[in-house]
Amino acid sequence: MSERITILGAGIVGICCALSLQERGIAVRLVDRAQPGQETSFGNAGVVSPWSVIPQPVPGIWKQLPAMLFDRNSALSVRPAFWPRMIPWGLRFMRNSSEPKVREASDAMELLCRPSIELYRKHLIGTGHENLIVDSHYVHAFRQPEQASLEDLGYLIRAEKGGDLERIGSDELHRLEPALSRAFQAAILIKGQARVTSPGRVGAVLAEKARDQGAEIIKTDVQGIAHAEDGYWHLTTSGEPLQTRSIVLAAGVWSADLLKPLGLSVPLVAERGYHIELPNASVSLNHSVMDVDAKVVASTMQGGLRVAGMAEFAGIEAPPDPRKQTILQEQAKAMVPDLDVSEARFWMGRRPSFPDSLPAIGEVKGKPGLFCAFGHSHYGLMMAPKTGELVADLVSGRRHNVNLGKFSLARF
Ligand SMILES: Cc1cc2nc3c(=O)[nH]c(=O)nc-3n(C[C@H](O)[C@H](O)[C@H](O)COP(=O)(O)OP(=O)(O)OC[C@H]3O[C@@H](n4cnc5c(N)ncnc54)[C@H](O)[C@@H]3O)c2cc1C
Repeated sequence: MSERITILGAGIVGICCALSLQERGIAVRLVDRAQPGQETSFGNAGVVSPWSVIPQPVPGIWKQLPAMLFDRNSALSVRPAFWPRMIPWGLRFMRNSSEPKVREASDAMELLCRPSIELYRKHLIGTGHENLIVDSHYVHAFRQPEQASLEDLGYLIRAEKGGDLERIGSDELHRLEPALSRAFQAAILIKGQARVTSPGRVGAVLAEKARDQGAEIIKTDVQGIAHAEDGYWHLTTSGEPLQTRSIVLAAGVWSADLLKPLGLSVPLVAERGYHIELPNASVSLNHSVMDVDAKVVASTMQGGLRVAGMAEFAGIEAPPDPRKQTILQEQAKAMVPDLDVSEARFWMGRRPSFPDSLPAIGEVKGKPGLFCAFGHSHYGLMMAPKTGELVADLVSGRRHNVNLGKFSLARF
């Protein structure tokens, strides 16, 4: 029997868990049916922010939903077959949208997001790819200047937590981001952030670092996990069966299906997002820029200018909606008019989303040796390194002085 800890899922969360476990002297085995870091963690917008501490459900959001659901170009859509699952999930989402709930979630998010930049820099040291993360503002760009208000709850909370925020007008915005459309009249700058210039490359490089440090990386499809009387977790796979004393479940949105046979049902859904990447962009952006109306984020990456966003609720394996490419291309041109959108690469990925925007982290009650590390929804790139540290502390029995109750699976 292997005494390695098995991490099921080599997305950015599983990879960061591997590195932190290794730091504590624990041998790891990463299991994934695909190449490390090439699923959801490949196609995100690259935002790494200590200040992304605002959950998706916020006060008043219910007022925006009907219009968004009926506008075929809006960021939000629900596939018809998904409504029976959407309604109970949506009701839970709404129950989390009061200001006290937002503040509670925000405190929990802060724990995970605050150290994200320094932890990525530490993980990348010695890989030769330290430049995959660069300093950045997060520019929230507004067409209606009166909407750019630092008094909005989301900005107030960020500022209360120490975020350095500034409201700027049209001229300053266009000095900062000359390629941006003049239709944007104001912006809120969130300073002290970073952006990753190739999320897929970060995953590949950090998985390679884990391998160089002794991680075993196995490519196989895990079909089931079960705890046996010998005290080990047994994994049925498309190849050889595997055994492990402890298992870290970091399989993103697919984690819920692996828990079902253990009698655990969790409200995790696939909140699918899309990007287009424009290799011939011909213009570039200096920061991560969000078009607040369209709710898409644009960033210049190694592979071109990427525009990412959308929240499409659908079955995990439903095919991508090709209309999203046209919508994203129109939105990209509306943001950056001189963009060359030829040879656009189109991608879809699945955010693993709980209705309170918080992930599940920790040992599952009644299942000794089964540790959760999934459900990071819109924030998985930036929350991954601290999630890795917490999981490594729990697995190694190191005491820490933080309350992980907000991340418990038992909250559902
Ligand atoms: C459009 C978009 C933009 C985003 N922008 C940002 C952003 O700017 N910043 C940010 O922080 N986050 C962002 N996110 C969210 C972030 O990308 C996700 O939260 C994160 O990638 C989740 O990582 P993960 O490791 O949990 O999941 P994944 O990357 O999906 O990894 C899970 C892994 O498990 C493997 N797996 C699953 N089941 C099995 C099985 N049965 N057997 C073997 N292997 C299995 C999969 O192959 C996969 O590699 C964005 C997401 C999207 C879609």
